[in-house]
Amino acid sequence: MYINGVWENADKALEVTNPANGEVIGSVPDGGREDAARAIDAAAKAFPAWSGLTAYQRSDYLYRAHKIMMERREDLARMMTLEQGKPIRASRNEVGYAADFLLWYAEEAKRVYGETIPAPRGDQRFIVAHQPVGVVAAVTPWNYPISMLTRKIAPALAAGCTIVLKPAEATPLCAVETFKIFEEAEIPAGVVNLVTAADPVPIGAEFTSNPTVRKITFTGSTAVGKKLAADAAAQLKRVSMELGGHAPFLVFKDADPVHAAKGASLVKFLNTGQACISPNRLFVHSSIVEPFVETLTERVTRMRGGNGMEDGISIGPLVNEAAIAKVERQVEDAKEKGATVMCGGHRLMDDGLDKGHFYAPTVLTGVTEAMTIYREETFGPVAPVIAFDDDETALTMANDTHYGLAAYVYTNNISRAMRMFEGLRFGIVGINDINPTAAAAPFGGAKESGLGREGGREGIVEYLETKLGGFSV
Ligand code: NAD
Repeated sequence: MYINGVWENADKALEVTNPANGEVIGSVPDGGREDAARAIDAAAKAFPAWSGLTAYQRSDYLYRAHKIMMERREDLARMMTLEQGKPIRASRNEVGYAADFLLWYAEEAKRVYGETIPAPRGDQRFIVAHQPVGVVAAVTPWNYPISMLTRKIAPALAAGCTIVLKPAEATPLCAVETFKIFEEAEIPAGVVNLVTAADPVPIGAEFTSNPTVRKITFTGSTAVGKKLAADAAAQLKRVSMELGGHAPFLVFKDADPVHAAKGASLVKFLNTGQACISPNRLFVHSSIVEPFVETLTERVTRMRGGNGMEDGISIGPLVNEAAIAKVERQVEDAKEKGATVMCGGHRLMDDGLDKGHFYAPTVLTGVTEAMTIYREETFGPVAPVIAFDDDETALTMANDTHYGLAAYVYTNNISRAMRMFEGLRFGIVGINDINPTAAAAPFGGAKESGLGREGGREGIVEYLETKLGGFSV
């Protein structure tokens, strides 16, 4: 753990395993509530000096961290593949994406502008300023084990906040490597703190009940996000929540079904489907469903599962047995209710893959509303295809979910593209675009997919309080 600028151990250790083969690859301290409380104290003590720096000074620290992260890209990527399982190329991409947040907020730190507002009285002046909210507590997931950290830490530090972060128990080694970068960038003691733990519950309880914490930022499941937000409400702490998703992927009759199927195969199986913006229902116009499914199935059949360190692997392991069990349950349920398995539909067991958590990339057709997969987030490599006949029905079905994170549309008709962009109740809509994300763009969900935005101009606002000054002159 990294508390007040010092690396610390705990009495117990949390072992970390490689999800591709079950081997133990390291361990981190198994911290507890006391450690979280000490880290919060350290962050509170560091806050006055850190928030008192100029934006230019804070920006310099972030530039330095960005430079070190890019120099370490290969080492970090290898650690990510070992610990999380994604193919090494995807890990390299993620490190680049993670570093982008450090760079973007190094720049954005200097653009926290206020404003003056014409006042109703002649002898009155209004000014609006933005100040850091204070100590931030952050909780992050395992699926993007470095970028989800910098997406929170970079804007928080740029705004002048100090922070305590608890990473996911499956991927704490990536967090340790990330915090080494902050240490080397000479970010002052107490500004960034890391608490690792096998049991997140006591840490979460300290984060939500400690009055020093003024903001909770969380990325993970909707269930845990709701619990943390409810607990934080007791002290009216500010919250940002990046939660689950159930992205629709709509392919209209004017789209090229082969091009759309290529896009679907890339975005659906990214990170083995373990992404909050992963398509969970593929709605395809009935006139082109056949060539779409043919191309998708052909591409998915060619995908190779295995250890992400090896060449040519595009399907890494799922995070654990519970994740496999969830995928199996959803596929069995769909089969029982009449879906057709075009490819996959089983665990991968050959060539030593039985030692890891591998599931074959799967395409299902004939999926209906009655099936669990139609509503429940899969977080695994399964592409369920549903045919539709008219735009309005497709839009209604796409919106028929309590999630609202990402949606994708394939069409070559500009009016239809605009109608869908406006009509889809999701925070992110990709129009013929399977990667509508960047450090410069606001990422976040509607409905039960979250509160607030990360990245972009909006990302730093989450860490700022608005202050009005009224002056009589
Ligand atoms: P999870 O909610 O189980 O865990 C996320 C984090 O919360 C982990 O660090 C975990 O230790 C911690 N946690 C769990 N219970 C806690 C508690 N009571 N108090 C404090 N912390 C607690 O989710 P997961 O399975 O690790 O991640 C997958 C989920 O995350 C999916 O639903 C996915 O859609 C979502 N996700 C969302 C985004 C986004 O930006 N919207 C990004 C990535 C993942």
